Amino acid sequence: AKSSGRGQVCYFNNAMRKRLKQQADIENDLQHGIKNNEFALYYQPIFSLNTGAIVGFEALVRWFHPKNGLVSPDTFIQIAEQTGQIIELDLHLLTLAAAQLKRWKDQGQPPIRVTVNVSSRHFASLEFVDTIRELYQRYELHSGSLCLEITESGLIANLALATKIIHGLASLGVKLYLDDFGTGYSALGYLHQLPIHVLKIDKSFIDQLTEKENPLVDAILKLAQSLNLTVVAEGIEQQTQWQLLKQKGCQFGQGFIVSQPLPADQAMAFVFSYSEN
Ligand code: C2E
Ligand code: CA
Ligand code: CA
Ligand code: CA
Repeated sequence: AKSSGRGQVCYFNNAMRKRLKQQADIENDLQHGIKNNEFALYYQPIFSLNTGAIVGFEALVRWFHPKNGLVSPDTFIQIAEQTGQIIELDLHLLTLAAAQLKRWKDQGQPPIRVTVNVSSRHFASLEFVDTIRELYQRYELHSGSLCLEITESGLIANLALATKIIHGLASLGVKLYLDDFGTGYSALGYLHQLPIHVLKIDKSFIDQLTEKENPLVDAILKLAQSLNLTVVAEGIEQQTQWQLLKQKGCQFGQGFIVSQPLPADQAMAFVFSYSEN
């Protein structure tokens, strides 16, 4: 028993060492990657479930790593959160999104909303409001064209300060999307106190919405209705999901049924080709 115990400890250490090495690599590479402009935003359409019209895009980061190729956010966002590099990465990506909105505006494209995912770490300092205000000014953005997606987990840690920041953002016309709603633990108490505008129902709930009804989706939609919140259903892949959600009063959706996330030019071209159908 002793030797197998020792074996386990040894195995654990090797696995640990490997993981730490991977994390250290990503940490290093992230730093270079931001400087070398290896990150790009892809844009996924958000559409009306009633009319099918595309009303906005969610910006999703893609990392073109010089050695490893395309790296998925799932592998590096969490590490960037742990090391604190997420702050710098988010600010870099917010700038990319703002610059893209400006480019579209200069091309004469109709105004469209882009939502950017940001870490709840930003909701610990009022400076974040200034940062967003400066982006709006520098890139001459239409009010409400750049909006934010956040998850609820980090907000509750310092609710008083987060509330101030969210009010500051709201006064700039920035709408707040509460991401992955229904996963993690939901402290519902704060929902009606905060100027949050949109709930995004997590894909895991939409996945279950096929053969069987999902009472949790109904509950979230009722909650949203009573609080006057708009709802976006994430990860719609099937026509039946679209129809069910529409019947239940969900206003907006996002998912491969309409489009995957696309590079900026393709995303804007898609809006036109899609609406012509
Ligand atoms: P999320 O914010 O929940 O984003 C939705 C994810 O679902 C995206 O994965 C999107 O490509 C994927 N998705 C959308 N529709 C469908 C569908 O119909 N089927 C399937 N199978 N997947 C669908 P992605 O781009 O890999 O992003 C993963 C997560 O990484 C995001 O989850 C978000 O938490 C994080 N992330 C992505 N970009 C950023 C960013 O710029 N900043 C930060 N802080 N986090 C980001
Ligand atoms: Ca999101
Ligand atoms: Ca989400
Ligand atoms: Ca998610």
